[in-house]
Amino acid sequence: MTDEGLSGTALFDAVVNLCKRRGFVFPSAEIYGGIRSTYDYGPLGALMLRNVKDAWWRAMVQERDDVLPLDAAILTNPKVWEASGHLATFTDPLVDCRSCNERSRADHLEPDSAGVIRCPKCGSTDLTDARPFNLMFKTWVGPVEDEGSVAYLRPETAQGMFVNFANVQTTMRRKPPFGIAQLGRSFRNEITPGNFVFRTREFEQMEMEFFVPPADSSRWHEYWCEQRLAWYLRYGIPEELLRLRAHEEEELSHYSSGTSDVEFAFPWGWGELEGIANRTDFDLKAHSEHSGVRLEYFDQATGERYVPHVIEPAAGATRTMMAFLIAAYHEDEIAGEKRTVLRLHPRLAPYQVAVLPLSKKDELTSTTDEVLDLIRPRFMCERDDTQSIGRRYRRQDEIGTPYCITVDFDSVNDRAVTVRERDSTIQERIPISGLVSYLTERI
Ligand code: ATP
Repeated sequence: MTDEGLSGTALFDAVVNLCKRRGFVFPSAEIYGGIRSTYDYGPLGALMLRNVKDAWWRAMVQERDDVLPLDAAILTNPKVWEASGHLATFTDPLVDCRSCNERSRADHLEPDSAGVIRCPKCGSTDLTDARPFNLMFKTWVGPVEDEGSVAYLRPETAQGMFVNFANVQTTMRRKPPFGIAQLGRSFRNEITPGNFVFRTREFEQMEMEFFVPPADSSRWHEYWCEQRLAWYLRYGIPEELLRLRAHEEEELSHYSSGTSDVEFAFPWGWGELEGIANRTDFDLKAHSEHSGVRLEYFDQATGERYVPHVIEPAAGATRTMMAFLIAAYHEDEIAGEKRTVLRLHPRLAPYQVAVLPLSKKDELTSTTDEVLDLIRPRFMCERDDTQSIGRRYRRQDEIGTPYCITVDFDSVNDRAVTVRERDSTIQERIPISGLVSYLTERI
């Protein structure tokens, strides 16, 4: 088997093309010409995105004693965004080109070889000065559009955890260190969305706020940097495509005393998948001041009282899904035949198992149904009985299905099926009665 690695634009184009062709990601409302940089997740994309979020949920909530889940509202009291600093400072520097009216983010414009900044669209140097542009989407709640009814679509999920700190801590009787995790949609009116689903105006985040005694915050920051980097490795991104990069002093957000980003080597260069910030006591203090409600930890037994510091690993689900797809994309050759294969972790692949009856003949239907009934409650499966078996294998390889089960005419009598593994293409004969344990061990 030989493996030809694509890179750069060729790799990016191949992944974008596969996403469209095989139903992972479609331009949103394509029949109306789409809407700039907005995407809909098709059947395979919806399955995979769910798997990415489940993988995060398993590691951050299910496998731990010290993290609790939350699902907060997207539209909330606008005072939240005043207290968090988003109304005043959640801005990007915007410049307009006076020649072609293109709008750009000033911090994304690179000077040319002569040191001159030009419009990326028409090349003009006639640009306005940069002015701050708030990234929050504004709307009105109820029928009256006035100042009193203004609300914002949340630009991050984090604030839901801060404003519910006391609710969660007291109802669940927790003492720091403990965390609150949630995932869900966030919205940012990005000036320059792009690079497919890397930067969109509507996206999904996976965030956790970990509340700790102030003196322990550095230790916990290091701990979460290690844990989060390990998560990407565990789900199959090769080490050489990942790095942890500490922010320079001038890069730090207003709330942070230290941030490290998990970065992935995208085809166009390193890009952030997740920021792990030490947010100090900034958020709990700000919400205490603005709401008048004390947000702190008080231990009745010892009389101890303090405002916890917060370590926040904040990841993007949609962006991370794209990184998993890019890292998994390979073109190789088996017995002289080229194939495209997504070497996705079995837990991330849209389908874990494809069940392929060798023929459409009735004889195989009941055994195929029996196999599906057995494994469907545990794994996401696809039944495919079209075209030749070779073509069906290729199709499953291309969408990353780790196991194909072929039901043939012998299966009816010997009660066994052929299981083919995606990466090695090795086939094994497995009794139907042993399928569940065979697959459970490997997925
Ligand atoms: P960037 O510098 O790329 O704009 P950020 O530092 O503003 O990102 P955070 O506020 O730390 O991002 O958000 C946490 C994560 O949410 C990011 O690491 C990224 O994975 C994801 N994310 C943020 N903005 C977008 C977006 N516009 N589209 C898709 N994912 C996003």
